[in-house]
Amino acid sequence: MTIETAQPAVLPVLSHWIDGQPVEVLPEQTGPIYNPATGQVIGRVPRGGEAEVAAAVAAAKAAFPAWRDMPLIARSQVLFAFRELMWRHREEMAALITRDHGKTFPDALAEVSRGIETIEFACGLPVHLAGLNTPNVATNVDAFTLRAPLGVTAAITPFNFPAMVPLWIYPIAIACGNTMLLKPSSHTPGATQLQAELWKAAGLPDGVFNIVYGGREAVTAIVEHPDIRAIQFVGSTKVGRYVYETGTKLGKRVGAYTSAKNAMIVLPDADMELTADAAVAAGYGSAGERCMAQTLVIAVGDTAEKLRPLMLERIAKLKVGPGMEPGVDMGPIYTADHRESVIRWIDKGEAEGAELVVDGRPFQHPENPDGFFLGVTLFDHVTPDMEIYKEEIFGPVLGIVHARTYDEALALINGHKYANGTAIFTTDGGAARRFKLEVDVPMIGVNVPIPVPAGYLSFGGSKESALGDLGMRGEDGIRFFTQQKMVTERWPEPGRRAALSLVFPGNA
Ligand code: NAD
Repeated sequence: MTIETAQPAVLPVLSHWIDGQPVEVLPEQTGPIYNPATGQVIGRVPRGGEAEVAAAVAAAKAAFPAWRDMPLIARSQVLFAFRELMWRHREEMAALITRDHGKTFPDALAEVSRGIETIEFACGLPVHLAGLNTPNVATNVDAFTLRAPLGVTAAITPFNFPAMVPLWIYPIAIACGNTMLLKPSSHTPGATQLQAELWKAAGLPDGVFNIVYGGREAVTAIVEHPDIRAIQFVGSTKVGRYVYETGTKLGKRVGAYTSAKNAMIVLPDADMELTADAAVAAGYGSAGERCMAQTLVIAVGDTAEKLRPLMLERIAKLKVGPGMEPGVDMGPIYTADHRESVIRWIDKGEAEGAELVVDGRPFQHPENPDGFFLGVTLFDHVTPDMEIYKEEIFGPVLGIVHARTYDEALALINGHKYANGTAIFTTDGGAARRFKLEVDVPMIGVNVPIPVPAGYLSFGGSKESALGDLGMRGEDGIRFFTQQKMVTERWPEPGRRAALSLVFPGNA
């Protein structure tokens, strides 16, 4: 397939998607979309608010009863059709992601595939929604459970995985019989707009899936809307806390999957070549703009002395450039403002006394001087009292931390306020086993730097990296987007009727 990257003569203006139709907006109700590789405005995205959220919720509410009542197989067939269309359009979608976000095309393609895995899981909805049936719990009484949809649900998603994160949420909500309002990040809207068109082509009834673009105003309208029953949020802890606290106070079910600072432990017996590959890939892939990036390498004993030169060899070979260019390893930062923020973090690390081994600040891309590029940065001797240790930077900045023992390294991870993903690099199965049991972080890799579980398993952190009880996707996703009903029913034998009694019913 040919992938268009040239600037069109007329800049595209995206539309909200409500009740199966694009909803056009006035130019003054839009904001710019940038291509971070060139720094140019490439289109405009609507800034929705209360009115657009109200219209989308009304459409979703009207569509709910028919979608809920559609036979499971028919619902599942729509999901299968959507999955096929997503697969057919995956390269087009990946190109949109690279254009809006900056990540490399192969990385964008991998993100789309990981998102499609969750649609595949959702296709099995007749099995996922099966309940328990217990006949004869009392005389002539049977009991069973069923998983019922909630109604209108919403997803609020971040810039960094424009396809994968929404796809981790809404196919499951829709498969369970809910209707959905998606509020994607306005920085990377292209991929979601294409998804709306593909849903329509797959035969999803109008109003089941809706998109409103916007920022704080749209999010506030979603969180406060009385007809929205459940919200899954993915983004920063600051905004996630607001969505969680306000939404739950208003009686909604809310799951918020938030910021992170992930660390990998390297034991002296690790395969150092494999570990150096892993550290560089997990630290700098997607310019460090992944919630599962490993941004701290905790080197135990004399490991850092062996690992650091191997990492430097690899860093020297990394190619930074536009994400559509073949052979590029790392694209630009997603906005100019965020690039400035990452630079301020590097300044801070230097001021705090970490050893600046590789400085990404001076990097400029020769053919794209206005692109939001940064080189990669490596700090050594990062210590737990430093802000660059404590806080999420969300850029290509990796820090090496020295620990004398495994126990010291483990205590560092368990003492951190964030707990999203972690990893251990070792050839000692016993040490790895101990780590799996002792580490207080939910997503764990053993010689795997980015332990994002397969699409049919649940995903989510703890502590400051998540709010709420359930993860996204998998079994947790089904539980999140349904209400379990418990039915107790009596079918008396013909002609027999128990005597009236005011005693609390016993099971006899
Ligand atoms: P963000 O919090 O800025 O934005 C997330 C969503 O909230 C977007 O839709 C955005 O439009 C909206 N929003 C932004 N500011 C708002 C405000 N003041 N009031 C109301 N809504 C607002 O996050 P981001 O910068 O888009 O994404 C990066 C963050 O997401 C990082 O912290 C990263 O760790 C986190 N993230 C977490 C996971 C996870 O699974 N834990 C996955 C991906 C990203």
